[in-house]
Amino acid sequence: MPVLVMKFGGTSVATPDRIKRAAKRVGLEVSKGYDVIVIVSAMSGKTNELVGWVNETSPMYDAREYDAVVSSGENVTAGLMAMTLQEMSVPARSWQGWQVPLLTSSIHSAARIEEIPTHNILAKFSEGMRVAVVAGFQGISQEDRITTLGRGGSDTTAVAFAAAFSADRCDIYTDVDGVYTTDPRIAENARKLNKISFEEMLELASLGAKVLQTRSVELAMRYKVKLRVLSSFDEPSEDAGTLVCHEEEIMESNVVSGIAYSRDEAKMTLVSVADRPGIAAAIFGHLSDAGVNVDMIIQNIAEDGRTDMTFSCPTEQVMRAERALQEGSSKLHVNFQQLIADTNVAKISAVGIGMRSQSGVAAKMFKTLSDEGINIKVIATSEIKISVLIDRKYMELAVQALHDVFELEKTP
Ligand code: ASP
Ligand code: MG
Repeated sequence: MPVLVMKFGGTSVATPDRIKRAAKRVGLEVSKGYDVIVIVSAMSGKTNELVGWVNETSPMYDAREYDAVVSSGENVTAGLMAMTLQEMSVPARSWQGWQVPLLTSSIHSAARIEEIPTHNILAKFSEGMRVAVVAGFQGISQEDRITTLGRGGSDTTAVAFAAAFSADRCDIYTDVDGVYTTDPRIAENARKLNKISFEEMLELASLGAKVLQTRSVELAMRYKVKLRVLSSFDEPSEDAGTLVCHEEEIMESNVVSGIAYSRDEAKMTLVSVADRPGIAAAIFGHLSDAGVNVDMIIQNIAEDGRTDMTFSCPTEQVMRAERALQEGSSKLHVNFQQLIADTNVAKISAVGIGMRSQSGVAAKMFKTLSDEGINIKVIATSEIKISVLIDRKYMELAVQALHDVFELEKTP
């Protein structure tokens, strides 16, 4: 029988009543003839609560025990979902990560999925079980310890199961009804996209649109998993939500598909570093060793053998970056006159595969920002993305203006 993967996020399983609602959706797909693998998150707020308990108990916690604790939220919802389905006379069984077993690397709290053997679950399907309810977010390492996949990791569990079982589709049920052209809380004419390409979704996800864990999109792209994002609160329908798919499957799209933003960015400038071979390698090698996620980088033109180096990183990593660079200055001979941190910036990005073939997108974006009197501090581009750093106080204005100028409210 064909297999379908259905993933329910925290808000969709927040109470026994909501679990019942989600289970009805599952029952519907079973009645269509699917064997279903349901991936569940913890009840909304649960994982945060568990993380809080860990920090309260042991600020310098053992990473293995952290995973033992924070993975437990999903165990509860998996059991409750299986019970609910049984109450509806749907043959169902719950599976924790280790029971599958979902094999991962040993990097606790950021483990990578290595393998999902399918035989145990397939054997149960052939015996008449119709739904395997799997606890998302968790797995087991070679050392037989419980691991977790990073926050938001149930999305990745779901896509990995869809790939392993060659599922017809992977439906991600969440609290929004799809992927939008931008955040509807900022631009009220934001439009839900019927389809979006993997490449664009990947950019949007890593740029701050929090619908899907970035890793899950990468995985779906690599294994050609048909991914759909939809709400468990809407009436079931065939074309609900947003389909994330290969760009060949999208007939028409706007040049720009979406405007993403990230509020918590910082701009760091190293004033007057030596302009010599190896300087960038030393600076960014040191930052990377310290776990700083550097995004945009600018190196100015050198004068008298000195240059300025600017980069962006998440605001919460500024202290770590400063410490790494101060240390680096003595250890690695990265001498600089001054380190300036500007923590009042936001990053705005326009994303669209249409940019590959259309010129003038960057010019239009810069002109729009200038018309609003917004100064651009840093620019970075890729084939399908243009990002700028601006003062945070203009963030909403910039998102609205760009959404308007690229006419994203209009269906292509
Ligand atoms: N419960 C985990 C989290 O909140 C995993 C997930 O829901 O995807 O991060
Ligand atoms: Mg999530």
